[in-house]
Amino acid sequence: MTKIAVAKGDGIGPEIMEAVLHIFRAANVPLEYEYVDMGKWVFDKGYSNGMTPRAQQTIENLGILFKGPMETPKGKGVKSVNVTARKTWNTYANKRVFQTLHGVDTVFSKAGIPIDITIVRENIEDTYGGIEHMLTHDVALSRRFITHPGSLQVIKYAFEMAKKKGTRRITCGHKANIMKLTDGLFLQTFYEVAKEYPELKADDIIVDDLCMKLVTRPDAFDVVVLTNLQGDIVSDLCAGLVGGLGFAPSANIGDHISIFEAVHGTAPDIMGKNIANPTALLLSGIALLRHVGLMRSAATIENALLYTLEQGDHTGDFGDKSVPALNTTQFADAIISNFGKVPANNPKPLLENMPVTPTVFKLDKNPMLENRENTNETIIGVDFFIESNEQPSVVAAKCLAHTFGLFKLVTISNRGTQVWPTGSMFTNLVNTYACRFESVGEVSITQTDVIELYRHLAQEFKVCSTELLNVWDGKKAYSLAAGQ
Ligand code: NAD
Repeated sequence: MTKIAVAKGDGIGPEIMEAVLHIFRAANVPLEYEYVDMGKWVFDKGYSNGMTPRAQQTIENLGILFKGPMETPKGKGVKSVNVTARKTWNTYANKRVFQTLHGVDTVFSKAGIPIDITIVRENIEDTYGGIEHMLTHDVALSRRFITHPGSLQVIKYAFEMAKKKGTRRITCGHKANIMKLTDGLFLQTFYEVAKEYPELKADDIIVDDLCMKLVTRPDAFDVVVLTNLQGDIVSDLCAGLVGGLGFAPSANIGDHISIFEAVHGTAPDIMGKNIANPTALLLSGIALLRHVGLMRSAATIENALLYTLEQGDHTGDFGDKSVPALNTTQFADAIISNFGKVPANNPKPLLENMPVTPTVFKLDKNPMLENRENTNETIIGVDFFIESNEQPSVVAAKCLAHTFGLFKLVTISNRGTQVWPTGSMFTNLVNTYACRFESVGEVSITQTDVIELYRHLAQEFKVCSTELLNVWDGKKAYSLAAGQ
């Protein structure tokens, strides 16, 4: 018997979790459940991460958490329990499978266009680090971290999963045409990993084009891997293609701990009424069963679910309105009564249960510790983000008074667009400028030189932020301002 941790969640969480576990018990799924205290009500008791220390210990010991939706307490500085859990346990890959479900009407199901898309979203990095600062009262800055180790881990997971699934195509969605360094690094890592999987057709697509093509030809895509924010948006778009969040399962995969949950929220408007749709949580539970090797149980339950949907049984949030809706319990019972039946569309093979040791994508050696001595690294300048409500020419004059022979002022930009030495009078300005200084002759400088320049500039401006201009093996490790 595999033992897993179960957190019922808030709002409709307990109702849909009870329905799903009722189905599991009826199917004699060989799982044991240990209930853990987690959610808004635990947060309200003073546990800032939304779980008791005992719950945390249990989840860390068992390695699998099956959870209902949890309410994010409102208010400044309060972090989501869901996001905290994903980050605490480094569940670096978010996998969401979107398939046509017959009985759930969508424009695609009506047109006979089959959908079977798996989105793998990086789950830790990107703007979701939540590293944000107000530079001035008018200007907020978010730091977007995309790292090579972080990208490597999720992309390796996506390729390995695609290989096991026998996929036709694996696609990287990105915006590397604009964010050349961050998305560029993700894309470069994608093709680095692709070399290890010559049997898979690997390609890439710019994310806006991806969205357009997903809604016109969703059947052209198979596995798509994306960075965190883009993956978040694209996966909800895909949920819409197959009938909405009520049909969107989600698995957050880490090397040691994995979390299975529905994508929708706590639905406070319908809580306690026993009318919520348990399908998304059930599909997440089915993914959990396959994750731990309970293939036969997973297929039996999934076939019964698909058959039930094909029969037109539905909860109030979807389906044929002329057919009376079932409540949550009745819908679960309908699925149980269909155990052993096979759906006409997309039946799942009854593979034998088999013990599975989940693949660990923990990198053999931490690339953070890689010896990069062979790279010729130099600092050749610095960007100072300064606060000023003066015109660019005035800012430039003040900067130029402080170059003390070592630095030259190369460009001044405002919101990424160059405004000095050349620019357009039509460029709107805000009160933060980025002033780029490079060493005369682009010779290597030291951080002490940069501090000296900082000391000088601080006499004129409030310096909000600085970034070093690194050159690695002769290649600039920074972007240019638009128009530079
Ligand atoms: P929501 O998903 O809870 O509700 C949006 C709408 O969809 C509502 O009308 C609701 O009734 C309906 N709905 C959602 N799930 C349903 C189901 N299973 N069956 C039938 N109808 C369903 O989104 P929200 O109102 O924006 O968020 C409510 C709370 O949930 C917030 O506190 C939010 O932070 C939290 N939330 C949690 C998660 C999670 O735990 N992973 C995800 C999203 C939102």
